[in-house]
Amino acid sequence: MGYVEEVFAKVKEKNASEPEFLQAVEEVLDTIRPVVEKNEELYRKEALLERLTEPERQIKFRVPWVDDKGQVQVNTGYRIQFNSAIGPYKGGLRFHPSVYVGIVKFLGFEQIFKNSLTGLPIGGGKGGSDFDPKGKSDREVMAFCQSFMTELSKYIGQDEDVPAGDIGVGGREIGYLFGQYKRIKTSYEGVLTGKGLTYGGSLARTEATGYGVLFLTEELLKCNGKDIKDKTVAVSGSGNVAIYAIQKAQQLGAKPVTCSDSTGWIYDPEGIDVELLKEVKEVKRARLTEYAAKRSSAEYHEGKGVWSVKADIALPCATQNELLIDDAKALVANGVIAVVEGANMPTSLDATKYLQENGVLFVPGKASNAGGVATSALEMTQNSERLSWSFEEVESKLKSIMVNIYHNIDDAAKRYGMEGNYVAGANIAGFEKVAEAMLAQGVC
Ligand code: NDP
Repeated sequence: MGYVEEVFAKVKEKNASEPEFLQAVEEVLDTIRPVVEKNEELYRKEALLERLTEPERQIKFRVPWVDDKGQVQVNTGYRIQFNSAIGPYKGGLRFHPSVYVGIVKFLGFEQIFKNSLTGLPIGGGKGGSDFDPKGKSDREVMAFCQSFMTELSKYIGQDEDVPAGDIGVGGREIGYLFGQYKRIKTSYEGVLTGKGLTYGGSLARTEATGYGVLFLTEELLKCNGKDIKDKTVAVSGSGNVAIYAIQKAQQLGAKPVTCSDSTGWIYDPEGIDVELLKEVKEVKRARLTEYAAKRSSAEYHEGKGVWSVKADIALPCATQNELLIDDAKALVANGVIAVVEGANMPTSLDATKYLQENGVLFVPGKASNAGGVATSALEMTQNSERLSWSFEEVESKLKSIMVNIYHNIDDAAKRYGMEGNYVAGANIAGFEKVAEAMLAQGVC
Protein backbone atom coordinates (compact mmCIF):
# COMPACT_ATOMS: atom_id res chain seq x y z
CA MET A 1 0.00 0.00 0.00
CA GLY A 2 1.35 3.45 -0.88
CA TYR A 3 1.86 6.12 1.80
CA VAL A 4 -1.23 8.10 0.67
CA GLU A 5 -3.48 5.01 0.92
CA GLU A 6 -2.01 4.06 4.28
CA VAL A 7 -2.66 7.48 5.77
CA PHE A 8 -6.14 7.74 4.30
CA ALA A 9 -7.03 4.31 5.73
CA LYS A 10 -5.92 5.49 9.19
CA VAL A 11 -7.82 8.78 8.86
CA LYS A 12 -10.94 6.85 7.85
CA GLU A 13 -10.69 4.51 10.79
CA LYS A 14 -10.15 7.35 13.26
CA ASN A 15 -12.85 9.66 11.90
CA ALA A 16 -15.45 7.19 10.65
CA SER A 17 -18.42 9.29 11.75
CA GLU A 18 -17.23 12.47 9.97
CA PRO A 19 -18.05 12.03 6.25
CA GLU A 20 -17.47 15.68 5.31
CA PHE A 21 -13.98 15.61 6.82
CA LEU A 22 -13.16 12.35 5.04
CA GLN A 23 -14.40 13.79 1.74
CA ALA A 24 -12.11 16.82 2.10
CA VAL A 25 -9.09 14.70 3.10
CA GLU A 26 -9.67 12.20 0.28
CA GLU A 27 -9.77 14.95 -2.33
CA VAL A 28 -6.56 16.56 -1.09
CA LEU A 29 -4.55 13.35 -0.56
CA ASP A 30 -5.62 11.97 -3.90
CA THR A 31 -4.44 15.01 -5.83
CA ILE A 32 -1.14 15.66 -4.01
CA ARG A 33 -0.08 12.06 -4.69
CA PRO A 34 2.61 13.01 -7.29
CA VAL A 35 4.29 15.36 -4.78
CA VAL A 36 4.09 12.74 -2.03
CA GLU A 37 5.52 10.02 -4.27
CA LYS A 38 8.48 12.24 -5.12
CA ASN A 39 9.29 12.73 -1.42
CA GLU A 40 7.87 9.54 0.04
CA GLU A 41 10.79 8.49 2.22
CA LEU A 42 11.15 11.86 3.91
CA TYR A 43 7.41 12.40 4.39
CA ARG A 44 6.99 8.92 5.87
CA LYS A 45 9.85 9.38 8.32
CA GLU A 46 8.48 12.76 9.36
CA ALA A 47 4.88 11.43 9.48
CA LEU A 48 4.01 14.54 7.50
CA LEU A 49 0.60 13.42 6.22
CA GLU A 50 -0.41 12.01 9.62
CA ARG A 51 0.39 15.38 11.18
CA LEU A 52 -1.32 17.30 8.38
CA THR A 53 -4.60 15.41 8.89
CA GLU A 54 -4.64 15.68 12.69
CA PRO A 55 -5.70 19.08 14.10
CA GLU A 56 -3.13 20.74 16.38
CA ARG A 57 -5.93 21.45 18.84
CA GLN A 58 -9.71 20.84 19.09
CA ILE A 59 -11.74 22.90 21.50
CA LYS A 60 -15.34 21.97 22.30
CA PHE A 61 -17.39 23.88 24.85
CA ARG A 62 -20.81 24.45 26.35
CA VAL A 63 -22.64 27.66 25.40
CA PRO A 64 -25.51 28.40 27.81
CA TRP A 65 -27.70 31.46 27.17
CA VAL A 66 -31.13 32.77 28.10
CA ASP A 67 -33.89 33.20 25.46
CA ASP A 68 -36.57 35.93 25.40
CA LYS A 69 -38.94 33.80 27.47
CA GLY A 70 -36.40 33.47 30.28
CA GLN A 71 -35.65 29.86 29.34
CA VAL A 72 -32.02 28.69 29.50
CA GLN A 73 -30.80 27.19 26.20
CA VAL A 74 -27.63 25.17 25.68
CA ASN A 75 -25.60 24.91 22.47
CA THR A 76 -22.20 23.42 21.66
CA GLY A 77 -19.28 25.60 20.54
CA TYR A 78 -16.19 24.50 18.60
CA ARG A 79 -12.85 25.90 17.53
CA ILE A 80 -10.50 23.65 15.60
CA GLN A 81 -6.97 25.04 15.40
CA PHE A 82 -5.81 22.85 12.56
CA ASN A 83 -2.42 24.01 11.37
CA SER A 84 -0.21 26.97 12.31
CA ALA A 85 2.84 26.16 10.17
CA ILE A 86 2.65 29.34 8.10
CA GLY A 87 0.91 31.76 10.48
CA PRO A 88 -1.65 32.21 13.25
CA TYR A 89 -4.86 30.19 12.85
CA LYS A 90 -7.37 31.99 10.65
CA GLY A 91 -10.82 30.90 9.56
CA GLY A 92 -14.47 31.68 10.10
CA LEU A 93 -17.15 30.78 12.62
CA ARG A 94 -20.30 29.05 11.36
CA PHE A 95 -23.59 29.22 13.28
CA HIS A 96 -25.98 26.64 11.78
CA PRO A 97 -27.94 23.71 13.26
CA SER A 98 -25.94 21.26 11.10
CA VAL A 99 -22.62 22.18 12.77
CA TYR A 100 -20.79 19.31 14.50
CA VAL A 101 -17.13 18.41 14.82
CA GLY A 102 -16.94 16.79 11.33
CA ILE A 103 -18.14 19.95 9.56
CA VAL A 104 -15.74 22.17 11.51
CA LYS A 105 -12.85 19.79 10.80
CA PHE A 106 -13.56 19.67 7.05
CA LEU A 107 -13.72 23.45 6.93
CA GLY A 108 -10.54 23.83 9.04
CA PHE A 109 -8.67 21.33 6.86
CA GLU A 110 -9.67 23.13 3.64
CA GLN A 111 -8.69 26.41 5.23
CA ILE A 112 -5.04 25.31 5.58
CA PHE A 113 -4.57 25.09 1.81
CA LYS A 114 -6.78 28.06 1.01
CA ASN A 115 -4.83 30.32 3.34
CA SER A 116 -1.57 29.06 1.90
CA LEU A 117 -2.80 29.88 -1.63
CA THR A 118 -3.42 33.52 -0.69
CA GLY A 119 0.36 33.94 -0.29
CA LEU A 120 -0.27 35.57 3.10
CA PRO A 121 1.08 34.34 6.48
CA ILE A 122 -2.06 32.69 7.90
CA GLY A 123 -2.59 29.18 9.24
CA GLY A 124 -5.81 27.14 9.10
CA GLY A 125 -8.62 27.03 11.66
CA LYS A 126 -12.41 27.06 11.83
CA GLY A 127 -15.11 27.17 14.46
CA GLY A 128 -18.77 27.54 15.09
CA SER A 129 -21.82 26.25 16.87
CA ASP A 130 -25.07 24.38 16.27
CA PHE A 131 -26.87 27.61 17.24
CA ASP A 132 -29.38 28.83 14.62
CA PRO A 133 -29.57 32.64 14.43
CA LYS A 134 -32.65 32.37 12.16
CA GLY A 135 -35.81 33.56 13.86
CA LYS A 136 -33.94 34.78 16.97
CA SER A 137 -34.27 38.34 18.26
CA ASP A 138 -31.21 40.62 18.26
CA ARG A 139 -31.10 40.27 22.06
CA GLU A 140 -31.04 36.48 21.84
CA VAL A 141 -28.27 36.56 19.24
CA MET A 142 -26.31 38.93 21.50
CA ALA A 143 -26.81 36.69 24.54
CA PHE A 144 -25.59 33.68 22.58
CA CYS A 145 -22.57 35.53 21.10
CA GLN A 146 -21.53 36.85 24.53
CA SER A 147 -21.66 33.39 26.06
CA PHE A 148 -19.82 31.86 23.07
CA MET A 149 -17.04 34.46 23.27
CA THR A 150 -16.72 34.17 27.06
CA GLU A 151 -15.29 30.69 26.47
CA LEU A 152 -13.63 31.21 23.07
CA SER A 153 -11.68 34.26 24.31
CA LYS A 154 -9.40 31.93 26.29
CA TYR A 155 -8.00 30.44 23.11
CA ILE A 156 -7.75 33.27 20.57
CA GLY A 157 -5.73 36.49 20.10
CA GLN A 158 -4.44 38.71 17.32
CA ASP A 159 -1.19 36.70 16.99
CA GLU A 160 -2.70 33.38 17.93
CA ASP A 161 -6.04 32.75 16.26
CA VAL A 162 -8.21 35.28 14.44
CA PRO A 163 -11.77 34.08 13.64
CA ALA A 164 -14.12 35.69 11.08
CA GLY A 165 -17.66 35.10 9.76
CA ASP A 166 -19.12 32.21 7.77
CA ILE A 167 -22.68 30.88 7.37
CA GLY A 168 -24.91 32.54 9.98
CA VAL A 169 -22.16 34.88 11.19
CA GLY A 170 -22.25 38.32 9.58
CA GLY A 171 -21.63 41.89 10.73
CA ARG A 172 -24.15 41.75 13.58
CA GLU A 173 -22.64 38.62 15.16
CA ILE A 174 -19.03 39.79 14.69
CA GLY A 175 -19.95 43.05 16.47
CA TYR A 176 -21.37 41.24 19.52
CA LEU A 177 -18.43 38.82 19.61
CA PHE A 178 -15.88 41.64 19.37
CA GLY A 179 -17.60 43.64 22.13
CA GLN A 180 -17.47 40.69 24.50
CA TYR A 181 -13.81 39.90 23.73
CA LYS A 182 -12.82 43.51 24.44
CA ARG A 183 -14.79 43.50 27.67
CA ILE A 184 -13.22 40.28 28.97
CA LYS A 185 -9.65 40.95 27.86
CA THR A 186 -9.56 44.74 28.31
CA SER A 187 -7.75 44.76 25.01
CA TYR A 188 -8.69 46.53 21.80
CA GLU A 189 -7.07 44.27 19.25
CA GLY A 190 -7.78 42.87 15.80
CA VAL A 191 -8.88 39.52 17.18
CA LEU A 192 -11.73 39.12 14.69
CA THR A 193 -12.09 40.15 11.06
CA GLY A 194 -15.23 41.19 9.25
CA LYS A 195 -15.62 44.00 11.80
CA GLY A 196 -17.75 47.11 11.23
CA LEU A 197 -16.03 50.12 9.66
CA THR A 198 -16.31 52.23 12.84
CA TYR A 199 -14.28 49.73 14.90
CA GLY A 200 -11.44 48.42 12.78
CA GLY A 201 -13.15 46.75 9.83
CA SER A 202 -11.80 46.92 6.31
CA LEU A 203 -13.60 48.44 3.37
CA ALA A 204 -14.44 45.76 0.79
CA ARG A 205 -14.31 42.87 3.31
CA THR A 206 -18.08 42.39 2.97
CA GLU A 207 -17.80 42.16 -0.80
CA ALA A 208 -14.47 40.30 -0.86
CA THR A 209 -15.42 36.64 -1.19
CA GLY A 210 -18.02 37.15 -3.92
CA TYR A 211 -15.91 39.71 -5.78
CA GLY A 212 -12.89 37.43 -5.51
CA VAL A 213 -14.81 34.53 -7.08
CA LEU A 214 -15.54 36.75 -10.08
CA PHE A 215 -12.01 38.13 -10.40
CA LEU A 216 -10.76 34.58 -10.58
CA THR A 217 -13.51 33.53 -13.01
CA GLU A 218 -12.66 36.45 -15.29
CA GLU A 219 -8.97 35.45 -15.37
CA LEU A 220 -9.82 31.76 -15.84
CA LEU A 221 -11.98 32.52 -18.87
CA LYS A 222 -9.50 35.00 -20.30
CA CYS A 223 -6.63 32.49 -20.08
CA ASN A 224 -8.84 29.89 -21.78
CA GLY A 225 -9.67 32.19 -24.68
CA LYS A 226 -13.14 33.19 -23.44
CA ASP A 227 -14.78 36.39 -22.23
CA ILE A 228 -17.03 36.74 -19.19
CA LYS A 229 -19.04 39.51 -20.86
CA ASP A 230 -22.60 38.54 -21.82
CA LYS A 231 -22.33 35.11 -20.19
CA THR A 232 -25.38 33.77 -18.36
CA VAL A 233 -24.61 32.80 -14.76
CA ALA A 234 -26.43 30.40 -12.41
CA VAL A 235 -25.75 31.25 -8.76
CA SER A 236 -26.91 29.34 -5.69
CA GLY A 237 -27.31 30.89 -2.23
CA SER A 238 -28.41 34.41 -1.37
CA GLY A 239 -26.08 35.17 1.51
CA ASN A 240 -22.87 37.15 1.71
CA VAL A 241 -20.93 35.24 -0.96
CA ALA A 242 -23.83 34.90 -3.43
CA ILE A 243 -24.96 38.54 -3.25
CA TYR A 244 -21.54 40.00 -3.99
CA ALA A 245 -20.77 37.36 -6.63
CA ILE A 246 -23.97 38.46 -8.39
CA GLN A 247 -23.05 42.12 -8.03
CA LYS A 248 -19.53 41.74 -9.47
CA ALA A 249 -20.76 39.43 -12.26
CA GLN A 250 -23.09 42.24 -13.34
CA GLN A 251 -20.30 44.81 -13.13
CA LEU A 252 -18.22 42.61 -15.44
CA GLY A 253 -21.05 42.46 -18.00
CA ALA A 254 -22.39 38.96 -17.24
CA LYS A 255 -26.00 38.12 -16.42
CA PRO A 256 -26.78 36.16 -13.22
CA VAL A 257 -30.26 34.68 -13.51
CA THR A 258 -30.68 32.57 -10.35
CA CYS A 259 -30.20 32.57 -6.58
CA SER A 260 -31.52 30.33 -3.80
CA ASP A 261 -31.96 29.89 -0.07
CA SER A 262 -32.60 26.92 2.16
CA THR A 263 -36.27 26.71 1.13
CA GLY A 264 -36.41 27.59 -2.56
CA TRP A 265 -34.89 29.32 -5.58
CA ILE A 266 -35.46 32.16 -8.01
CA TYR A 267 -35.20 32.18 -11.79
CA ASP A 268 -35.14 35.72 -13.09
CA PRO A 269 -34.46 35.73 -16.86
CA GLU A 270 -34.14 39.53 -16.88
CA GLY A 271 -31.19 39.22 -14.46
CA ILE A 272 -31.22 39.28 -10.65
CA ASP A 273 -32.04 42.68 -9.15
CA VAL A 274 -29.19 42.82 -6.65
CA GLU A 275 -30.48 45.84 -4.71
CA LEU A 276 -33.82 44.11 -4.16
CA LEU A 277 -32.02 40.91 -3.15
CA LYS A 278 -29.96 42.85 -0.59
CA GLU A 279 -33.07 44.44 0.86
CA VAL A 280 -34.81 41.06 1.22
CA LYS A 281 -31.80 39.15 2.59
CA GLU A 282 -29.50 41.67 4.31
CA VAL A 283 -32.06 44.11 5.69
CA LYS A 284 -35.27 42.15 6.24
CA ARG A 285 -33.63 38.71 6.68
CA ALA A 286 -36.69 37.37 4.79
CA ARG A 287 -37.36 34.46 2.41
CA LEU A 288 -36.91 34.66 -1.37
CA THR A 289 -40.69 34.60 -1.83
CA GLU A 290 -40.50 38.32 -0.96
CA TYR A 291 -38.12 38.87 -3.86
CA ALA A 292 -40.52 37.12 -6.26
CA ALA A 293 -43.48 39.10 -4.90
CA LYS A 294 -41.75 42.38 -5.77
CA ARG A 295 -40.33 41.45 -9.17
CA SER A 296 -42.65 40.49 -12.00
CA SER A 297 -39.92 38.86 -14.14
CA ALA A 298 -38.98 36.41 -11.37
CA GLU A 299 -40.25 32.85 -10.87
CA TYR A 300 -40.04 31.30 -7.40
CA HIS A 301 -39.68 27.51 -7.05
CA GLU A 302 -39.77 25.48 -3.84
CA GLY A 303 -36.84 23.17 -3.06
CA LYS A 304 -33.67 22.80 -5.15
CA GLY A 305 -33.24 23.49 -8.87
CA VAL A 306 -30.79 26.26 -9.82
CA TRP A 307 -28.57 23.81 -11.71
CA SER A 308 -31.41 22.87 -14.08
CA VAL A 309 -31.31 26.33 -15.67
CA LYS A 310 -29.36 26.87 -18.90
CA ALA A 311 -26.21 28.82 -18.01
CA ASP A 312 -22.65 29.32 -19.29
CA ILE A 313 -21.17 29.65 -15.81
CA ALA A 314 -22.28 28.06 -12.52
CA LEU A 315 -21.28 29.52 -9.17
CA PRO A 316 -22.34 27.39 -6.17
CA CYS A 317 -22.30 29.86 -3.26
CA ALA A 318 -24.53 28.29 -0.57
CA THR A 319 -23.13 25.30 1.30
CA GLN A 320 -21.28 21.95 1.09
CA ASN A 321 -22.53 19.16 -1.21
CA GLU A 322 -25.17 21.22 -2.99
CA LEU A 323 -24.04 20.31 -6.53
CA LEU A 324 -24.36 16.56 -6.99
CA ILE A 325 -23.83 14.20 -9.91
CA ASP A 326 -27.28 14.74 -11.47
CA ASP A 327 -26.78 18.50 -11.23
CA ALA A 328 -23.41 18.16 -12.96
CA LYS A 329 -25.07 16.15 -15.75
CA ALA A 330 -27.79 18.78 -16.18
CA LEU A 331 -25.21 21.59 -16.33
CA VAL A 332 -23.13 19.76 -18.95
CA ALA A 333 -26.24 18.93 -21.00
CA ASN A 334 -27.05 22.66 -20.96
CA GLY A 335 -23.58 23.59 -22.23
CA VAL A 336 -21.95 25.03 -19.09
CA ILE A 337 -18.33 26.09 -19.71
CA ALA A 338 -17.14 26.86 -16.16
CA VAL A 339 -18.05 25.92 -12.59
CA VAL A 340 -16.32 28.07 -9.99
CA GLU A 341 -17.02 27.35 -6.32
CA GLY A 342 -17.97 30.25 -4.04
CA ALA A 343 -18.95 27.97 -1.14
CA ASN A 344 -16.67 25.46 0.58
CA MET A 345 -16.86 21.99 -1.02
CA PRO A 346 -20.28 22.55 -2.67
CA THR A 347 -19.53 19.97 -5.37
CA SER A 348 -19.43 16.26 -4.52
CA LEU A 349 -16.37 14.26 -5.62
CA ASP A 350 -18.23 12.35 -8.38
CA ALA A 351 -19.81 15.56 -9.71
CA THR A 352 -16.38 17.23 -9.81
CA LYS A 353 -14.96 14.30 -11.76
CA TYR A 354 -17.87 14.35 -14.21
CA LEU A 355 -17.46 18.06 -14.87
CA GLN A 356 -13.70 17.72 -15.41
CA GLU A 357 -14.12 14.72 -17.72
CA ASN A 358 -16.60 16.68 -19.81
CA GLY A 359 -14.21 19.55 -20.40
CA VAL A 360 -15.78 22.02 -17.96
CA LEU A 361 -13.33 24.49 -16.39
CA PHE A 362 -13.69 23.66 -12.68
CA VAL A 363 -12.11 25.67 -9.85
CA PRO A 364 -12.40 24.48 -6.24
CA GLY A 365 -13.48 26.83 -3.47
CA LYS A 366 -10.16 26.73 -1.67
CA ALA A 367 -8.77 28.74 -4.60
CA SER A 368 -11.78 30.67 -5.87
CA ASN A 369 -13.30 31.77 -2.54
CA ALA A 370 -9.96 32.67 -0.94
CA GLY A 371 -10.64 36.38 -1.50
CA GLY A 372 -12.58 36.52 1.78
CA VAL A 373 -9.78 35.29 3.98
CA ALA A 374 -7.21 37.22 1.95
CA THR A 375 -9.08 40.44 2.65
CA SER A 376 -9.39 39.41 6.29
CA ALA A 377 -5.60 39.23 6.35
CA LEU A 378 -5.52 42.72 4.80
CA GLU A 379 -7.84 43.82 7.63
CA MET A 380 -5.32 42.38 10.13
CA THR A 381 -2.54 44.36 8.45
CA GLN A 382 -4.56 47.59 8.61
CA ASN A 383 -5.33 46.91 12.30
CA SER A 384 -1.64 46.42 13.15
CA GLU A 385 -0.71 49.56 11.21
CA ARG A 386 -3.63 51.43 12.81
CA LEU A 387 -4.55 52.59 9.29
CA SER A 388 -7.53 52.22 6.95
CA TRP A 389 -7.08 51.79 3.23
CA SER A 390 -9.59 53.03 0.65
CA PHE A 391 -12.13 50.70 -0.98
CA GLU A 392 -10.26 50.96 -4.29
CA GLU A 393 -6.93 50.08 -2.67
CA VAL A 394 -8.33 46.97 -0.98
CA GLU A 395 -10.23 45.90 -4.09
CA SER A 396 -7.18 46.28 -6.28
CA LYS A 397 -5.07 44.20 -3.84
CA LEU A 398 -7.86 41.59 -3.78
CA LYS A 399 -7.91 41.44 -7.57
CA SER A 400 -4.17 40.91 -7.84
CA ILE A 401 -4.30 38.18 -5.15
CA MET A 402 -7.05 36.34 -7.08
CA VAL A 403 -5.22 36.66 -10.40
CA ASN A 404 -2.07 35.32 -8.70
CA ILE A 405 -3.98 32.41 -7.21
CA TYR A 406 -5.27 31.46 -10.64
CA HIS A 407 -1.77 31.49 -12.11
CA ASN A 408 -0.29 29.57 -9.16
CA ILE A 409 -2.82 26.76 -9.40
CA ASP A 410 -2.57 26.67 -13.18
CA ASP A 411 1.22 26.51 -12.94
CA ALA A 412 1.22 23.77 -10.26
CA ALA A 413 -1.13 21.63 -12.39
CA LYS A 414 1.16 22.09 -15.42
CA ARG A 415 4.32 21.28 -13.41
CA TYR A 416 2.84 17.90 -12.56
CA GLY A 417 1.51 17.17 -16.07
CA MET A 418 -2.14 17.80 -15.20
CA GLU A 419 -2.84 20.94 -17.20
CA GLY A 420 -6.35 22.30 -16.63
CA ASN A 421 -6.89 20.23 -13.47
CA TYR A 422 -7.31 23.14 -11.07
CA VAL A 423 -8.32 20.86 -8.19
CA ALA A 424 -4.92 19.18 -8.32
CA GLY A 425 -3.23 22.55 -8.94
CA ALA A 426 -4.86 24.16 -5.89
CA ASN A 427 -4.10 21.26 -3.58
CA ILE A 428 -0.51 20.93 -4.75
CA ALA A 429 0.27 24.66 -4.63
CA GLY A 430 -1.36 25.01 -1.20
CA PHE A 431 0.33 21.89 0.17
CA GLU A 432 3.88 22.62 -1.02
CA LYS A 433 4.28 25.74 1.11
CA VAL A 434 2.72 24.20 4.23
CA ALA A 435 4.80 21.01 3.88
CA GLU A 436 8.03 22.97 3.57
CA ALA A 437 7.20 25.09 6.63
CA MET A 438 6.24 22.01 8.68
CA LEU A 439 9.44 20.19 7.80
CA ALA A 440 11.55 23.26 8.61
CA GLN A 441 9.94 23.58 12.06
CA GLY A 442 10.77 20.03 13.17
CA VAL A 443 8.46 17.69 15.02
CA CYS A 444 5.66 19.84 16.39
P1 NDP B 1 -24.56 33.19 4.57
O1 NDP B 1 -25.06 32.67 5.85
O2 NDP B 1 -24.44 34.64 4.35
O3 NDP B 1 -25.44 32.60 3.36
C1 NDP B 1 -25.58 31.23 3.15
C2 NDP B 1 -26.59 31.03 2.04
O4 NDP B 1 -26.67 29.64 1.73
C3 NDP B 1 -28.00 31.46 2.43
O5 NDP B 1 -28.68 31.86 1.26
C4 NDP B 1 -28.58 30.17 3.00
O6 NDP B 1 -30.00 30.13 2.94
C5 NDP B 1 -27.98 29.13 2.09
N1 NDP B 1 -27.80 27.86 2.81
C6 NDP B 1 -27.11 27.66 3.96
N2 NDP B 1 -27.18 26.38 4.33
C7 NDP B 1 -27.95 25.77 3.40
C8 NDP B 1 -28.39 24.44 3.24
N3 NDP B 1 -28.05 23.48 4.10
N4 NDP B 1 -29.16 24.17 2.14
C9 NDP B 1 -29.49 25.16 1.26
N5 NDP B 1 -29.11 26.43 1.37
C10 NDP B 1 -28.34 26.73 2.42
O7 NDP B 1 -23.14 32.46 4.34
P2 NDP B 1 -21.97 32.87 3.37
O8 NDP B 1 -22.51 33.46 2.12
O9 NDP B 1 -20.96 33.62 4.15
O10 NDP B 1 -21.32 31.44 3.06
C11 NDP B 1 -21.73 30.64 1.96
C12 NDP B 1 -20.64 29.62 1.65
O11 NDP B 1 -19.42 30.29 1.32
C13 NDP B 1 -20.29 28.67 2.79
O12 NDP B 1 -19.90 27.42 2.25
C14 NDP B 1 -19.07 29.33 3.42
O13 NDP B 1 -18.26 28.39 4.12
C15 NDP B 1 -18.36 29.83 2.17
N6 NDP B 1 -17.41 30.92 2.38
C16 NDP B 1 -17.78 32.10 2.96
C17 NDP B 1 -16.87 33.11 3.10
C18 NDP B 1 -17.24 34.45 3.63
O14 NDP B 1 -16.40 35.35 3.59
N7 NDP B 1 -18.45 34.68 4.10
C19 NDP B 1 -15.45 32.92 2.72
C20 NDP B 1 -15.19 31.68 2.06
C21 NDP B 1 -16.14 30.72 1.93
P3 NDP B 1 -30.91 30.87 4.04
O15 NDP B 1 -30.96 32.30 3.63
O16 NDP B 1 -32.23 30.18 3.96
O17 NDP B 1 -30.22 30.65 5.35
